[in-house]
Amino acid sequence: MRVPMIAGNWKMNTSIGEAEQLVNEIRRGLGGVIGVDKVVCPPFVSLATVKELIKGSSIRLGAQNLYFEEKGAYTGEISPLMLADLCEFVIIGHSERRQYFNETNEIVNKKLQAALKVGLKPILCIGEKLEENEAGRTKEVVTEQLQSSLAGIDCSGDFIIAYEPIWAIGTGKAAIGKEVNKTASLIRRTITQLYSDAIAQEIRILYGGSITADNIAEFMEQFEIDGALVGGASLKPDQFVSIIKQTQEIFYPTNPPTKDLV
Ligand code: PEP
Repeated sequence: MRVPMIAGNWKMNTSIGEAEQLVNEIRRGLGGVIGVDKVVCPPFVSLATVKELIKGSSIRLGAQNLYFEEKGAYTGEISPLMLADLCEFVIIGHSERRQYFNETNEIVNKKLQAALKVGLKPILCIGEKLEENEAGRTKEVVTEQLQSSLAGIDCSGDFIIAYEPIWAIGTGKAAIGKEVNKTASLIRRTITQLYSDAIAQEIRILYGGSITADNIAEFMEQFEIDGALVGGASLKPDQFVSIIKQTQEIFYPTNPPTKDLV
C-alpha cells in the first residue's frame, strides 16, 4: 500500500518568525495523526529553523526548488549539496517556476538528476495550461512532460509526482476528482512504460490545485490519487491539519494505523 502524502508548499510566504509560528501550530494540531506523510516546504531561509522545530515529530521537510550545479559562481542560487543536509524532499518544476523563471523540461531534468545524486526525494510537478486542457491536449502534454523530464533518470519508488493543472493553481477553481483520477492513471501507465510496473505501483501521485479542507475528500477518495500538494491552504494551520486528518480517515476507514508506516 502507498502511504498517502500531504505536502504544503508555502511558496514565497512567511518571515522566519511567521514560519516558526506556522509550523508550531501545525505540529500542535497534528498531535498523533499517523499513517500520512506530512511534509512542509517553507522558503529556503526558514528551512533550518523549521528543521529544529519539527524534531521529534513526524513532520518532514522539503525545499521548493534547487539549482542543478553543486557549487560555484551562481549568485543567489541554492545547490543540492546545501539542501541535502537540511531537508528530505524538494519540489522541482513547479508551474510558477516554469512560468516566471523560464524552467523548461530540460532544466527540470537536470534538477531531478542533481537532486537524486545527493539523495533528495523529488516532488516533480507536471500539469497542463488552461488552453491545452480546453483543446483536449492534457494527455499529450502530461505524457510529454514526463518523458522529457525523466529522460535518462533512474527512478525509484521514492520519487513523487504532483499533477497540478496550471489553471487550478491558486485560482480557487479545483479540478474534478474523477478527471484527476484518469490523468493520475495515465501518469502511472506512463511510468510503467518508462520503468516498470513495480515502480509505477510504488510511486505516489499527488494532486495539486486549490485544495482546501472542503474539497480534499473528493480527491483522496480516488483510487489513483495518493495525496496532495497544497499551496494557499497550507498557510492556514487549521485547514492544513484538517486536510491531513481527513486524508487519514479516508485511507484508513476502519483500522487507523497505530504507528507510522514510514
Ligand atoms: C501549489 O502551489 O502547488 C498549489 C497547488 O497551490 P494552491 O493550493 O494554492 O492552488
